[in-house]
Amino acid sequence: MKHDSAVHDGAMTALDRCDACGAQAYVRVEMPYGVLMFCGHHANAHLEKLVASAVSVRDERERIG
Ligand SMILES: [Zn+2]
Repeated sequence: MKHDSAVHDGAMTALDRCDACGAQAYVRVEMPYGVLMFCGHHANAHLEKLVASAVSVRDERERIG
């Protein structure tokens, strides 16, 4: 099955940008109203309070080198 490149169903890429600051995103949070992307810094700042209502969370912060 061929996937549209705009659909996120795999690993995050350098094209994924933090919604808060525009840095490369390493955490994707699917909320009932949409998807939020965060860099490591803003994931640390926001994830804890978002995760309770998140549909799913993809956390790739271990890739931050
Ligand atoms: Zn950020």
